[in-house]
Amino acid sequence: MNKPLILVVEDDPPVRNLITTTLKTNDYRYLVAAKGEEAILEASSHNPDIMLLDLGLPDIDGIEVIHNIRSWSNLPIIVISARSEDTDKIEALDAGADDYLTKPFSVEELLARLRVTQRRLSYMSAERQNNSSVFVNGNLKIDYAAGCAYLNGEELHLTPIEYKLLCLLSKNVGKVLTHTYITQNIWGRSWENDIASQRVFMATLRKKLEPSPDSPQYIQTHIGVGYRMMRVE
Ligand code: CA
Repeated sequence: MNKPLILVVEDDPPVRNLITTTLKTNDYRYLVAAKGEEAILEASSHNPDIMLLDLGLPDIDGIEVIHNIRSWSNLPIIVISARSEDTDKIEALDAGADDYLTKPFSVEELLARLRVTQRRLSYMSAERQNNSSVFVNGNLKIDYAAGCAYLNGEELHLTPIEYKLLCLLSKNVGKVLTHTYITQNIWGRSWENDIASQRVFMATLRKKLEPSPDSPQYIQTHIGVGYRMMRVE
């Protein structure tokens, strides 16, 4: 199998070097771009597997890069944000980014994010080949056609909202979904109140789904941002 090709978009040389050194020593291939326009050009001409994108670029904003890329490609984008405010991450995720890293980050964190995205990619391509209506993740099974979910072979008794939430998360396994994205997909609108009720539904869903709801295995919470279903081995 070819080594994955990562497009690194970062204008800060020390951070860029840290990333490329990590990639080199961990069997990845990489391309670099220091500006947004250059990133779009590199992405379109080299077809990378994953893009690591710094949001603060000297020419155009990282969010603009995401909008541009998403208009023609599903290339997974992991955003690198220097700003600790959640609003940037949320904006990036809503624009179509798949995941995010906050500066400063460790080499381990970077590699973990890449692995999550790679697992998601291989899962998506297997899904496309199978064209199956059954989702399996660890001990969880969802039969989309029958509208039923099972844990360890036993049917989960979910309310319609809990089931919708579970399906939405499973269909985006590995991807962080923002509160806004979830409420728009579940309730068809986005109100402040929906984020509160989302928490309630997520808590009841977890109680049914997670062997230990306090250290969830399937659904990760991203405080202030949203939720993600993890691939369980
Ligand atoms: Ca920067």
